[in-house]
Amino acid sequence: MELSHLKKIAWIVNIAIFLMVFGHMIFFWYIDVPFLVAFSIPDACVYIIGFVLIHYDKLNIYVWLVYCWITLYTCVTTICIGIGYGFHLYCFSIVPIIFVTEYIAYKQKRRSMKALPVSLIITAFYIIYTSYGSGHGPVFERSGKQTAFFWSLNALVVFSFLIAFISYLIRLIIHSEDELKRAAQIDQLTKLYNRHYMFDRLTEITNADKQCILAIADIDDFKGVNDVHGHNAGDEVLKCLSERLVRECPNCDISRWGGEEFLIISYAPYNEAIAMLEELRKNIEASTVRFAGKEIRVTITVGIVSRNPGQDTNELIEKADNRLYYGKNNGKNCIVCDPEP
Ligand code: GH3
Ligand code: MG
Ligand code: MG
Repeated sequence: MELSHLKKIAWIVNIAIFLMVFGHMIFFWYIDVPFLVAFSIPDACVYIIGFVLIHYDKLNIYVWLVYCWITLYTCVTTICIGIGYGFHLYCFSIVPIIFVTEYIAYKQKRRSMKALPVSLIITAFYIIYTSYGSGHGPVFERSGKQTAFFWSLNALVVFSFLIAFISYLIRLIIHSEDELKRAAQIDQLTKLYNRHYMFDRLTEITNADKQCILAIADIDDFKGVNDVHGHNAGDEVLKCLSERLVRECPNCDISRWGGEEFLIISYAPYNEAIAMLEELRKNIEASTVRFAGKEIRVTITVGIVSRNPGQDTNELIEKADNRLYYGKNNGKNCIVCDPEP
């Protein structure tokens, strides 16, 4: 998670809590507890300091300041007016954030307090002051209909926060898992599927006993491109060729099978697939790749096999490879396939 994103969340949370401080202040004034009205002043100051800390990117200090303060605040309000108003419930909202804070610090390679002992201390503190509060009764006894209202309001705020926070967290986890999965399947240079992904695809094809065309395309004399124009030019050729493959081989699974080798799986009828690959070969031969003011020309040789039901995919890959090397030994810049499927 990026710092700017975290900062934005911290601003929103701090503004929301800051506004709540004034709401609580009015409430304490309404139920006539001057001590808690006065206590709202340091309460507001904490969140003003919070704005300063967020502004200067001191998010770690901000978070721990807020935790300590909320724990103290819930203790003081509970002892003063009793557990019936539900101020102690705010303690529950702290626990998941403590663990997330430790995780974020770990990801950003920063030092952080350990979430487990901190949350155990908060739990112990919570049990002690709520037990004390229910055993001794509130310091400022206030009877009124507002108890149930404020209990419901505080419970609503805490539950809404927990639901929103945890659902946001789960969505974030699903998103980052998808990103990781995608990154593990994609070749970074060409943005095509990698060899690892293609093995899974081939297994799926074997299991489903699918009919398809397997083609291995290899750039001719690519070592020469690197030698003459440099490795960066070679990379550019690989990228441009990959874009062309994606453009000109629709509905195919295309992967970077090796350094300058591509495995293409087509599900089109045999003649259609052969025509598409021959067209691709011709278009590559006719085009140039521009790099640093130079025009680079390459050609490809393609070994093609057709998979019929019951055939072993690994054996077919070997056969496509053999055809590719037959093409390499017989002039290159050609496709080698069965005359008939
Ligand atoms: P052939 O026509 O027989 O296929 O000859 P070739 O030169 O293409 O094949 P060879 O196997 O001799 O050389 C392949 C070259 O591909 C060597 C290697 O440096 C280059 N290569 C492999 N991966 C990359 C890459 O990611 N970037 C660049 N620039 N070159 C790469
Ligand atoms: Mg080659
Ligand atoms: Mg090769």
